Amino acid sequence: MSQTDLSPATRVVTLGRLPAEPGGSVNAPLVLSSTYHADGPVNYARGGNPTWTSFEDVVGSLEGGHGLVLSSGMAAVDAVLALVPVGGTVVAPAGAYNGVVVTLAERAEAGTLSVRFVDQQDAGAVEEALEGAALLWIESPTNPLLDVVDVGALTALAHRAGALVACDNTFATPLLQRPLEDGVDVVVHSVTKYLSGHSDLLLGAVVTRDDEPGRALHARMARHRQMHGAIAGPLEVWLAVRGVRTLSVRLERAWANSVILAARLETHPSVTRVRYPGFGAIVSIEVAGGAEGAERVATATRLWVHATSLGGVESMLERRRRQSGEPETTPTNLIRLSVGIEDVEDLWADLAQALDTAADASPGDA
Ligand SMILES: *Cc1c(COP(=O)(O)O)cnc(C)c1O
Repeated sequence: MSQTDLSPATRVVTLGRLPAEPGGSVNAPLVLSSTYHADGPVNYARGGNPTWTSFEDVVGSLEGGHGLVLSSGMAAVDAVLALVPVGGTVVAPAGAYNGVVVTLAERAEAGTLSVRFVDQQDAGAVEEALEGAALLWIESPTNPLLDVVDVGALTALAHRAGALVACDNTFATPLLQRPLEDGVDVVVHSVTKYLSGHSDLLLGAVVTRDDEPGRALHARMARHRQMHGAIAGPLEVWLAVRGVRTLSVRLERAWANSVILAARLETHPSVTRVRYPGFGAIVSIEVAGGAEGAERVATATRLWVHATSLGGVESMLERRRRQSGEPETTPTNLIRLSVGIEDVEDLWADLAQALDTAADASPGDA
């Protein structure tokens, strides 16, 4: 039975291991070495590491291409932006992960690239902005507005305009969306989030198709990783391999919890809007009482962790506009909920008491 016949829920468990041999290790070893005995395929550890290969085999297979692990999600973003020629144009969503929006704006200001921010849900606006562009950046669902786009349709528009397409697949994970199958050239992940899943490390990855242009992009980004030195620590990658083994069950539980919580939040009097695309485990809510009301809710939970980041086993919440650099497309009273794998009744009880507390503190402010 070849690995590609197996379902993704099986491959997260089976891939990235060494061939079985009597007495051999069941798990891929953590290789801590800065250099290797001469005359092998890799001679220095900035160019490769067997623990990286384990993780790359898993993420590559899940996305249907070749993986490359980097030191963080932003390092993965940077490896993609290095594909854009100096002065080239990037078309990106106005509301997306703030690190991407900020780095694009800063690079545009420095003159190394130019950027056109568009509402990516407006395909006409995207098409217009693509004129002469080098790269289309897609994020779907977006962080934190949870906008979902037709990745294949936008990709076709970009390719017609001669632009490469990158898609940040952090929120959906390859279990729910495989952008390479929609024609996307590079998939980007913050491995920090769902793929590793335990809020204990930072890592990123890019994945490219197994065809001639895809392999060429992979080689350029591998070279970028090696020469810029944005390499992943082997321990973090080993932990990510261990974390990804449970991706399917973690996501299944967190998704099921999210469906229940999103429905209950819809009817809570302190909640003015619920954004939930119906899949995945991020739910964004807007609450009564503006930014202050949202702060009161976010600081009143006991079980939900008040912290930035997402995709871990523990439920977490944050008023996003706390972060400097968060795009103004994010409402000031928006709280992003990263739903974890705890018991859903415990999660609801805590969230409901936080929402009730906040409402009590501001009578008539709804
Ligand atoms: C967190 C995040 C990133 C950045 O990843 P880091 O691992 O924090 O560098 C990129 N895109 C999305 C959608 C994210 O949520």
